[in-house]
Amino acid sequence: MNTIDEKLQPILSTVLHRNAGDPEFHQAAREVLESLGRVIARNPEYSDDALIERICEPERQIIFRVPWIDDENHVQINRGFRVQFNSALGPYKGGIRFHPSVNVGIIKFLGFEQTFKNALTGLPIGGGKGGSDFDPKGKSDREIMRFCQSFMVELHRHIGEYVDVPAGDIGVGAREIGYMFGMYKRLNNRFEAGVLTGKGLVYGGSRARKEATGFGTAFFVRSMLAAKNTDFEGKRVVVSGSGNVAIYAMEKILSFGGKVVACSDSSGYIVDENGIDLDLVKQIKEVNRGRISDYVEMKGQGCHHVKGGSVWNVPCEIALPCATQNELNGNDAKVLVENGVIAVAEGANMPCTPEAVHLFQKANVLFAPGKAANAGGVATSALEMQQNASRDSWSFAQTESRLEEIMTNIHAACHETSEEYGAPGDYVLGANIAGFVRVADAMRAMGVI
Ligand code: NDP
Repeated sequence: MNTIDEKLQPILSTVLHRNAGDPEFHQAAREVLESLGRVIARNPEYSDDALIERICEPERQIIFRVPWIDDENHVQINRGFRVQFNSALGPYKGGIRFHPSVNVGIIKFLGFEQTFKNALTGLPIGGGKGGSDFDPKGKSDREIMRFCQSFMVELHRHIGEYVDVPAGDIGVGAREIGYMFGMYKRLNNRFEAGVLTGKGLVYGGSRARKEATGFGTAFFVRSMLAAKNTDFEGKRVVVSGSGNVAIYAMEKILSFGGKVVACSDSSGYIVDENGIDLDLVKQIKEVNRGRISDYVEMKGQGCHHVKGGSVWNVPCEIALPCATQNELNGNDAKVLVENGVIAVAEGANMPCTPEAVHLFQKANVLFAPGKAANAGGVATSALEMQQNASRDSWSFAQTESRLEEIMTNIHAACHETSEEYGAPGDYVLGANIAGFVRVADAMRAMGVI
């Protein structure tokens, strides 16, 4: 494992102490601090005025009760969160996650990662994240609506076009954003389109937002492969998850000539050696809201479903974890390396454990961290804010071409920074340093606040 510079060790100790019981936040903070030793060695002023301590401490953490009434007329209680991590570069920006695993530590880790990711996009957005331990699985449409409305009854006082602009994440798509936007509009009596992103096209959404995270990840991998004089053509690809990020990563990879042979959901994975039929996956997940196992029944021959197990046992040259945090561990990484993987990119946030990342880097596998590889989603959210601010609506082609340009620039920034700091091709180091420097420069200019 990497080591932490002795000047940064006390900062990590404070983070661990102050956030006891938040292991995902510890993991994310440790990874960033491991990268910063080289920065403060060269530019000691970055450790002045407790700048790094301030970057590790959220500006504001909000926790609230979300009462709602289910279809049986029972009152249910969930917990809601919004962590407004850093606003040095712009309004807080980051998604809302509805999943039973959500707690303040998970939201804090996501908000911390978001701060550096948003900085990497080069756009004027700060970092935040929110969510609830509400489980949307098995809920009726009316229950989802009542929950989203109750969630917004509290959240509305903390957000705004110039304050904090949430979007979707796990369990929150266009349907949930619509219900939340409706309640925000009613409570505030104003059509403030820029308060949420990921909206439907008819009321201020952006074309290509739905596709953006997955497309962006594919663009990033294409740049990484190009830097090694290769491409997607004919390569076997395995993607985990079958949600928003996974589906659109697969779509772009297919257009680049890659062959996706497996994808998953939380109950297991499917393998189709003829190449995954993406239209069928979309039908199952986006229309039927069903399970990935339905694929085998609907497709018929030539494919199979494995209940539970690890999708990373399926041999591939390119692996894209697009489901959730810590879903790819050291054992999975070992199997992938033995099976000849050449590139791994995190479509999800922190899906690879530190041990897995270490094994990939040791084996010279190209490795793209989530804060760089999945930044296309938030970047396009910022483009949605631009369209809302100018009361405009761009074409799909125009939006996608901006996304492509942004992802190409993020790749270049990470690559060049890794070279500048003496670790060429270390995208983790490159992303952490390039993101940090932008946030840190803005914070230094604003004084101790
Ligand atoms: P979705 O809810 O659309 O899809 C999530 C997928 O991951 C589903 O297939 C889900 O399966 C699976 N999954 C969730 N939890 C687990 C688990 N514990 N084990 C295995 N599979 C699991 O979410 P998104 O696609 O939007 O998000 C996926 C990841 O990408 C998250 O880490 C998110 O933070 C990150 N991300 C998303 C962005 C976006 O624009 N949406 C932007 C940047 C990052 P099941 O249906 O069975 O639960």
